[in-house]
Amino acid sequence: MFSSFLRPNNLSQKMMRVIFSIYLGVTCLITSMQFLTEYLKTQDSILNELKQLEETVRGPIATSLWQYNKNQLNSLVSGLIKMPIIEGVDILDKHAGNMISKRSYTLASAPLSVFDTKSDLYWMLNEKKILLGSLTLYSSSEVILDRVLFGFSLIAITAIIKLSVLFWLFIWAFDRYLANPLKELMSQVNEVQLSQNISKRINLSNIENNELSQLQENMNKMLSAIERDRERLLEDEQAKRNWLEDAVKKRTEALQISNEKLKKLATRDSLTGALNRGYFFETAQRLLVLSQRQNSPASFVLMDLDHFKIINDTHGHFIGDQVLIHFIHTTQNLLRKSDLIGRVGGEEFAIFFPDTGIDEAFRLADKIRKAIGNSIFEIEGKTITYTVSLGVESSETQGHSIDELFKRADLKLYGAKDKGRDRVEK
Ligand code: GH3
Ligand code: MG
Ligand code: MG
Repeated sequence: MFSSFLRPNNLSQKMMRVIFSIYLGVTCLITSMQFLTEYLKTQDSILNELKQLEETVRGPIATSLWQYNKNQLNSLVSGLIKMPIIEGVDILDKHAGNMISKRSYTLASAPLSVFDTKSDLYWMLNEKKILLGSLTLYSSSEVILDRVLFGFSLIAITAIIKLSVLFWLFIWAFDRYLANPLKELMSQVNEVQLSQNISKRINLSNIENNELSQLQENMNKMLSAIERDRERLLEDEQAKRNWLEDAVKKRTEALQISNEKLKKLATRDSLTGALNRGYFFETAQRLLVLSQRQNSPASFVLMDLDHFKIINDTHGHFIGDQVLIHFIHTTQNLLRKSDLIGRVGGEEFAIFFPDTGIDEAFRLADKIRKAIGNSIFEIEGKTITYTVSLGVESSETQGHSIDELFKRADLKLYGAKDKGRDRVEK
């Protein structure tokens, strides 16, 4: 109890120390005032008793003095000094000379304070007062304390018992109604803080309707508000994430389209959609190397529209363009997926046939020639017919590059032109 009072380790013990100190201080003050009052009252009553005694013994002492009866005087004083309230007796003669002086204590054990009553001693003769001397009776603080202390020790013992009982009762009450609910509240607040479950709430056991229950209610309201805010934030975040994913997806799609467009621009001829010259030769060279590695034949066909200048001059460039597109569509329909067709000049086109020998290439070239020659292209109410000349070359001899094939096919093409056009030369 004493150590918990000096070093309180919980709220109730701390509060108890404050209350106990205040209670002890007030009790000590009131008890000291009571003690002082009682002391002064007892001193007054002892003084009265001394005066009454003085009244009683003054006559016999005066008689003894008048008769010079020293023995009687001494026995009277001895009788007085034995009385519990008397600590000393002094008898002086009329010239204030000390006749008898007796104390019930020694000088070494003298009391703290001494008080007395003094009166003159007279002898009446013919109705005349004759002064014989004076009588002084002493009492002391010891006599007062003897009377007062017993009552006060009872008060002190009951006060200590009362304080001890009250101390433990207060500690119990504080623990029960304040410290324990607060401890539970703190541990539940910690649990809520550490918990992943945001819908967790504080729920104190044995709670009564007081400030603590209001605190619990307010904290739970605060937790609900935090939960709502958090959910709203999560929803906002999710919406932003969705928006971002959507934007990234759209952007990626747009980029893919742009890339495809760029690729098309870089690899295709914008008018006819056939491979452009650079990309055609690059791809054809790769395929040629591959076929040579596999000892497989490949063929190259160069095509030039006949008298195309006349078409332009007769029908205009727009129609000329449409003829070029028509040529490509017609030709492409006759090709296999593995064949490569490109625009290598104004109205010059080339085909690379992988895995195709010269005869097969020739047959395919002639098929194209016939298809073009037989086609009737109608545009803007006009019917346009045209022909194409073709030169065919093959890579059957090792070491041919695509440029060499091109040059040799070109020579064949010239040959076809020379021989009257609408022909295939190999
Ligand atoms: P040949 O039978 O000898 O080949 O006669 P050709 O008239 O076809 O010969 P030439 O090479 O002299 O003429 C080709 C013409 O093709 C010249 C040019 O104006 C035309 N041309 C080139 N590119 C285009 C094009 O993209 N569109 C149009 N409409 N004409 C083009
Ligand atoms: Mg030409
Ligand atoms: Mg031409």
